Amino acid sequence: LANRRQDLLDGLDPEQRAAACAPRGPVCVLAGAGTGKTRTITHRIAYLVCSGHVAAGQVLAVTFTARAAGELRARLRPLGVEGAQARTFHAAALRQLRYFWPRVVGDRQWDLIEGNKLRLVGQAANKLGLPTELEVLRDLTSEIEWAKASLIGPDDYPAAVARRSRDVPEPAERIAELYRTYERAKSDAQLLDFDDLLLHTTAVLEEHSAVAEEFRDRYRCFVVDEYQDVTPAQQRLLDAWLGGRDDLTVVGDANQTIYSFGGASPRPLLEFTRRFPDATVVRLERDYRSTPQVVALANRVIGAARGRPAGSRLNLVGQRPDGPPPRFAEYDDEATEAAAVAARIRELLDAGVPASEIAVLYRVNAQSEGYEQALSEAGIPYLVRGGERFFARREVRQAMAALRTAAAGEPQGELVTMVRRVLAGVGLTEQPPSGGAAKERWDALLALVELAEELAATTDGATLGRYVAELDQRASAQHPPTVEGVTLASLHAAKGLEWDAVFLVGLAEGTLPILHADGSDEAIEEERRLFYVGVTRAREHLSLSWALARNPGGRRNRRRSRFLYGLLPEDHPAARVGRQQQKPMEPKARCRICGAALLATMEIKLGRCGKCPADIDEDLLARLKEWRVERARELNVPAFVVFTDATLVAIAEQRPADTTALV
Ligand code: ATP
Ligand code: MG
Repeated sequence: LANRRQDLLDGLDPEQRAAACAPRGPVCVLAGAGTGKTRTITHRIAYLVCSGHVAAGQVLAVTFTARAAGELRARLRPLGVEGAQARTFHAAALRQLRYFWPRVVGDRQWDLIEGNKLRLVGQAANKLGLPTELEVLRDLTSEIEWAKASLIGPDDYPAAVARRSRDVPEPAERIAELYRTYERAKSDAQLLDFDDLLLHTTAVLEEHSAVAEEFRDRYRCFVVDEYQDVTPAQQRLLDAWLGGRDDLTVVGDANQTIYSFGGASPRPLLEFTRRFPDATVVRLERDYRSTPQVVALANRVIGAARGRPAGSRLNLVGQRPDGPPPRFAEYDDEATEAAAVAARIRELLDAGVPASEIAVLYRVNAQSEGYEQALSEAGIPYLVRGGERFFARREVRQAMAALRTAAAGEPQGELVTMVRRVLAGVGLTEQPPSGGAAKERWDALLALVELAEELAATTDGATLGRYVAELDQRASAQHPPTVEGVTLASLHAAKGLEWDAVFLVGLAEGTLPILHADGSDEAIEEERRLFYVGVTRAREHLSLSWALARNPGGRRNRRRSRFLYGLLPEDHPAARVGRQQQKPMEPKARCRICGAALLATMEIKLGRCGKCPADIDEDLLARLKEWRVERARELNVPAFVVFTDATLVAIAEQRPADTTALV
């Protein structure tokens, strides 16, 4: 045992060790990406369990995304900690609510709403005469979610948004009305949404002392990863869990706050010592994840951030050997970008990088489509992160329906054989299809089989009914089973994770920062932090790319992301990549003085390039200037008004010009 304890500590540096073996009580680790925060907490849990300070079953570790919770579990497993729970706040709350609900409320049933939420909001909006277009409904739903996560009820909503810098999609009073109507409709239908899970669990613990006592007996040691993204609702649940105790370890990085749009705030992290003055506080600076090249880029990205709170201004120091410099690439259109990323991924696969060590990260889920297509075409296996997508897949829904029917019917025994037999009925062939969408469907079904194998291996006498319940639980907690392949994920879903190679795509204005980042400093800074999260996911290969047009042949009018300025020297090859990709084109016109190709519209119209001396004499130019001032005075407009191209050309060529066409 002493050896194991030593092994656990040997895997940590002195600062990490100080946090890992601090006595039970408040501990706070404030540090940048890749410095080993998650490693520190998993080792801390293992250390406390293995030195007998706490039983594994008394530990509850929470984080924010299903993937991050899965990562925590995956890292705890090899440390030999059986029975410690690692879940998202929502999944933990769901479990507790299922357990305590019958005792507190009796046999009143409830169901989770998530799939139908938008419809319910839509019905409420319709009733109130609010707009019901999908985009608006999404915004309105986000507002309700923001309010609930911020512990703001309908009555207080208007005052709360008045204090906020972000605009509201409809008048605040109207949204408050919608919020009220939605809540009533939901409660009438005995439905709970995700936010209710937190609120109800908190209420149960706060209002039922017997339940709270039982809970307190059960869980004694709390750990929160990614604490910078805690919402007031989650903090309140955490406080209800603690019930006045202080056995709480939190780790986080204020520079990775990416949910403030949804009500999250790094304040509880940054003010942890104010709340727990005797807390052990540790800061980490050594970055163990990424090559010095990636670390340098990450430091520059976050160094440019404005308004960073004290306590978040840490510089990362790379620890790994040198790697390749990050790549920057500009493409004509998004399809070309996706195809080029797929081609580069093929090179990495051929060089021996496993598919599961490669990720394509983007700002919004809708961007996955193009990459799904490009990877399918290149025959590269992939997997789209985001649980709802997995469980929303048609073949998965069909499979679950078939499994449910089977579970209700015949008697069972061997689980995996049963599952295979049922899934054969919905398309799981013996041999995988060669590629494309069929292979992807097959992979999804196989993932269900693997889950059955996992359950059979870890649970004695696992039944089909138990398996279906596990699937339901995962579906509601958005925790998909793993499928081998290149990961496609949104930046939000990528937090806390790492890959050998990361492709950060769509770095164009309007996409990152996203268009609806309303231009306020706060919104832009949140987008910058998302970019930082993306950059810091890469261990070794990092590629940043963007496209100038959305569609092939479309207008190349998109600008590269503002976050690239300062990272990308102006003479960087990326500035020319787009042109290199184009077939050399015969210029439309050449300069009639030096013969150079003319590109700019104005040059083409004048028939000479900007470098050649004007063949309009100086006199004429001076007269034009004068004339412009006069004409402007006449029209009572400022003298620096800009002429349309046509007007200027006409004037230069001394043809009659439509001088009213001043813009
Ligand atoms: P993020 O902010 O992105 O969540 P993090 O601070 O949680 O990052 P980890 O994921 O714990 O960082 O660690 C990053 C990587 O560095 C992991 O692969 C981890 O195993 C490795 N690592 C951390 N600490 C050490 C160490 N002391 N020695 C060797 N490797 C380490
Ligand atoms: Mg982490």
